[in-house]
Amino acid sequence: MNQEGTMAEVREQIEFDVLFVGGGPAGLAGAIHIMQLAKQKDLDLEVALIDKGGDIGSHALSGAVLNPIALKELLPDYTNAGCPIETDVRGDEFRFLTKRGNYAVPFVPKYMRNEGFHIISLSRFVQWLAQIAEDLGVNIFSGFAGKDVLYADDDKTVIGVRTGDKGLGKDGKSKANFEAGVDIAAKVTVIGDGAKGSLLREISEKLDVFAGKKPQVFETGIKEVIQLPERTYFADSAGNDIHTFGYPLGLDVHGGGFIYEMKDNRVALGLVTSLGYQDPLLNLYEEFIRFKRHPFVSKIISGGKVIEQGARVVDSGGYFTMPKLAVDGAVFVGAAASMVDMAGLKGIHTSMKSGMLAAEAILGAILKTDFSQETLIQYHDLFEASWLKQELYAGRNFAQAASKKGLMKLVRMGVEYLTGGCPIFDKTPLEEDSRTLKPLKKGDLEASEEKYEKQDYDGALFVDKLTGVYLSKTQHREDQPCHLIVHDTDLCVNECFKTYGCPCTRFCPANVYEMETDHNTQEKKLKLNPSNCLHCKTCEVKDPFGNITWTCPEGGDGPKYTVM
Ligand code: SF4
Repeated sequence: MNQEGTMAEVREQIEFDVLFVGGGPAGLAGAIHIMQLAKQKDLDLEVALIDKGGDIGSHALSGAVLNPIALKELLPDYTNAGCPIETDVRGDEFRFLTKRGNYAVPFVPKYMRNEGFHIISLSRFVQWLAQIAEDLGVNIFSGFAGKDVLYADDDKTVIGVRTGDKGLGKDGKSKANFEAGVDIAAKVTVIGDGAKGSLLREISEKLDVFAGKKPQVFETGIKEVIQLPERTYFADSAGNDIHTFGYPLGLDVHGGGFIYEMKDNRVALGLVTSLGYQDPLLNLYEEFIRFKRHPFVSKIISGGKVIEQGARVVDSGGYFTMPKLAVDGAVFVGAAASMVDMAGLKGIHTSMKSGMLAAEAILGAILKTDFSQETLIQYHDLFEASWLKQELYAGRNFAQAASKKGLMKLVRMGVEYLTGGCPIFDKTPLEEDSRTLKPLKKGDLEASEEKYEKQDYDGALFVDKLTGVYLSKTQHREDQPCHLIVHDTDLCVNECFKTYGCPCTRFCPANVYEMETDHNTQEKKLKLNPSNCLHCKTCEVKDPFGNITWTCPEGGDGPKYTVM
């Protein structure tokens, strides 16, 4: 009996009316909203939500400032309902950092003005939403990774997802504790598996939902929550929502830092770097540490201790990179569908709204008993008529402006700001992040070693990559097939090493990729440490040869964020 046969015989099948894949703000807001709408219509719906994290929230990471516009629509009484708010934004600070100095920018762009918004931990926020969804009758299954999309016999209608098998050995063969994944069928499947989600990738390969769109581009954020001994900087500062640009990335690499006040003398701090950078020697983690060591930042976090660390890509392409929002049997929500306002550095309220609009379209489809694309595309019409469209459309050329270098970036951003998106630059080209690296030149490697002089990690406020992985509480069962597929390892040690010096060893924030040299033969070999993986997806985005594919490991594995 072959292995596939064995699995198929024991594979359980369950059916729901609606299945949400991904327990982020989009999926959870959508699940809550569809239950609310069904209740109003006296409809009895069977709704499920699956998430690959061991618990809801354990893979959720964001800055995070929450614009409550969507939350007020979904749960008007959210403060009394126990919404876990860290602090409210009292004021914004926007600073330009030079190597040692810092300058307050007198003008904070309106899309970055957050006064009155809430600073939250996304992990805690989605946990709270999940409890509300469950109370409304949503069946929530955490620890179940959507591994494959299920199609009807026509090979184009999505009818659900298959969750990943558990208990496979490294060789892919089932072990004694093997549990076959479950086929979860639904009339409508809502794909909300986040930025660079693997299910949307699978659907796009079959149904080309990104046809005619700009290539998606991404930024990687590395974030920490730091416990401070006492409330110092924020006790006197006008602003508790700080954004920086300039050092350490400079003006040629888009990105910047954020520092947000949390409750109980904690701060959320991070550096977001556009993956459109050109220097193959740029080290994302080292840049993050340089940001923390800047005098302005280190003064704020002085005496602190990192209590959690994590990383995640966010899609930053915006409006022109959005996929078609519906196919037969499925809709796409949240960051997976580019519903992120990168100009305002916020994606939670936009994701929530997309889930809510999708819920309204799905209810219409249920009432008509028609789950075809023609009916579900009502979601697109609702999107077009919403504030969400207006917000994303205003920032539609932000990614193009951000991809420019030096002062030209500031000029383009300024023009777009003043013109509400600048139609004369509409749909200018965007280059895929995997294509932007420049080949190494002689001496580059030595120069990089000088830039990243050996760091002095104290293990408390400044932690190295492996301690960071430890603080993310990341765990994977060791004896399972490697979830990172490196298609051609010869290409890594030959072409990629010679041309780019193996950038995966520098863009991965978790030390998953290492280049080893055999002491006897001097041959190089790529070593993988997949159990360190933070599921940030940077490697799939930035690898210059498209040689890495990130796949879902066993459900429940990965980071165990609690305050990210
Ligand atoms: Fe991120 Fe890839 Fe490294 Fe995992 S292996 S932490 S997905 S860059």
